[in-house]
Amino acid sequence: MKKPIALVTRIDRADEQSWVNVLAGLLPESEIMFFDEMNDAQRGVAEIAIVANPDPAHVAALPNLRWIHSLWAGVERLVAELGSAAPPIVRLEDPELARVMAEAILAWTYYLHRDMPTYRRQQGAAIWHQHPYRRPGDLTVGILGMGLLGKAAAAQLKAAGFRVTGWARSSQQVDGIDMLSAESGLDRLLRESDIVVSLLPLTPETRGLLDARRFASMKAGARLINFSRGPIIVDADLIAALNTGQIAHAVLDVFDTEPLPSSSPYWLHGSVTVLPHISAPTDRNTAAAIVADNIKRYYATGALPVAIDIRRGY
Ligand code: NAP
Repeated sequence: MKKPIALVTRIDRADEQSWVNVLAGLLPESEIMFFDEMNDAQRGVAEIAIVANPDPAHVAALPNLRWIHSLWAGVERLVAELGSAAPPIVRLEDPELARVMAEAILAWTYYLHRDMPTYRRQQGAAIWHQHPYRRPGDLTVGILGMGLLGKAAAAQLKAAGFRVTGWARSSQQVDGIDMLSAESGLDRLLRESDIVVSLLPLTPETRGLLDARRFASMKAGARLINFSRGPIIVDADLIAALNTGQIAHAVLDVFDTEPLPSSSPYWLHGSVTVLPHISAPTDRNTAAAIVADNIKRYYATGALPVAIDIRRGY
């Protein structure tokens, strides 16, 4: 008999069906089932749930779960909703996602480095004015969060000639990157960076990290890219820092509420680029292959893939 694996999500059924189609081809020994189509016996034996923003009550209705595989890289909502009693949570760690994110960070770093917001503004007022060129090596890009995505972005930026500083929770060494940690490291990164990039997970420690005090400690006219999670920024404080020019421009792909409400001051702010959470879309084929490999390895060896640390929140 095929082993039932529960697909537990709050994404729409067409999207769910697309995941099942790809996963079923990769996991012929298993039966990937929509949670609401499983009977009590199937729910009772399922050891694995594949999830995307699941209803916690549905996860709790799978009494034999050994572990959960998220289809997403960010797990803050899972951690908050499932709590510490949840089975081990494995998140998506996809090198293709990291490549796409690194490409996006490089693209929007160039956008800021080559003054595109300024030339766009000048064009609106028919202003012909040339600003001096600065080499990438004259700019420091500070990356907050040096995990899978931060390291990939750092490598791309370094290869493009930028000076790169990284900040992580633990002290660590990364080739060619000036690595910092702790509060003192954050202070230095903010003080010295021309462009600050957030690739931090959202946790109790990182929520509201970039606030008025931290914006004030940045270089006058620094630029910001937030491609990880909206609540890492205190929105009112960023707007105030943009209004004074302390922050010259922000490229934002993630927000406290998504879709970004039409009432948000970000939409019409001349110093903000709003993106609709597109910096690193999941590639269904590469993601499904990683999920399937983890599941096959578990069935073959009994070994659980590396899970997130629920107390740390990422
Ligand atoms: P990851 O591998 O878990 O890396 C997280 C990094 O942040 C690590 O370097 C970690 O430090 C550091 N960190 C965590 N808490 C910290 C703290 N309090 N102080 C300092 N550093 C801290 O995560 P990832 O795969 O790179 O992904 C990062 C985030 O990107 C995800 O959580 C998700 O929210 C977001 N994301 C966004 C998109 C999008 O489309 N916009 C797509 C995918 C992911 P250590 O190395 O010391 O652990």
